[in-house]
Amino acid sequence: MSKTVITRFAPSPTGFLHIGGARTALFNWLYANHTGGKMLLRIEDTDRQRSTPEATAAIIEGLQWLGLTWEGEPISQFERAGRHREVAEELVRLGKAYYCYASPEELDQMREEARAAGKPPRYDGRWRDRDPSEAPEGVKPVIRIKAPLDGDTLVRDQVQGDIRFPNKDLDDFIILRSDGTPTYMHAVVVDDHDMGVTHVIRGDDHLTNAARQSVIYEAMGWDVPIWAHVPLIHGADGAKLSKRHGALGVDAYRAMGYLPSALLNYLVRLGWSHGDDEVMSIEQMIEWFEVTDINKGAARFDFQKLEALNGVH
Ligand code: GLU
Repeated sequence: MSKTVITRFAPSPTGFLHIGGARTALFNWLYANHTGGKMLLRIEDTDRQRSTPEATAAIIEGLQWLGLTWEGEPISQFERAGRHREVAEELVRLGKAYYCYASPEELDQMREEARAAGKPPRYDGRWRDRDPSEAPEGVKPVIRIKAPLDGDTLVRDQVQGDIRFPNKDLDDFIILRSDGTPTYMHAVVVDDHDMGVTHVIRGDDHLTNAARQSVIYEAMGWDVPIWAHVPLIHGADGAKLSKRHGALGVDAYRAMGYLPSALLNYLVRLGWSHGDDEVMSIEQMIEWFEVTDINKGAARFDFQKLEALNGVH
């Protein structure tokens, strides 16, 4: 028997719930319901500078208004910082990660040299095999993961297909900062693993992150989830969606008197469709939705279509 599907919507609470986020939440919710699984809501509030309680409240309100429900309480990623640190330290014990004491000046120099050579900036692994007894005094280290030095990392994606990332481009990236807080890359892996997430459905701006996250899964001996990276939404002019294209936050559509069912019908068709059906009930969406049917090409936002849909609801 296959495992119960667990999806998650994992917004960073730095602003209102925008169209792209609402679509990601909808796809996760539909797939969980389609399979009789569940969706979790994880608030990625690790970045204390940019996260606000107002944004968390706005996201939760937007989801509730759309009827996109989640299992249990919303989870705060920040509150799990102790667990993130524990796994980073475990990786050091396993010999899969290491303390790096490189100074900001050394890092600047590496960047400078890479720029001069016309290469992307890269950490040169100078603390990879160095004995920690050589550590300079009074310097708080970061923890870096040992990325494989050759070969490539395969990301099997249900939307994008199989994509290979050369390991030499992955770098020994930081998983724990010198103040003991996790990086996004690390926190997401630990949380998805601990929460039993089976399917990661999110924007394709995270596709290269999937390769780096796979390195952490691999190092811990954990199963990699099923990936589905959904093309971002673009405006009619092909540029990344912004307010300029008439795309507003979910709260603004609500204030303008849009019905949730109109917005959901519009959102679901941004990258997925079912034959020529223009208007679907929520039950039909749940019945028909398949991750593997999500389009590979970027979806285009069309405000007029959205307005027309609102008229039929
Ligand atoms: N918190 C990330 C974001 O809002 C998403 C992380 C993820 O889905 O893995 O972009």
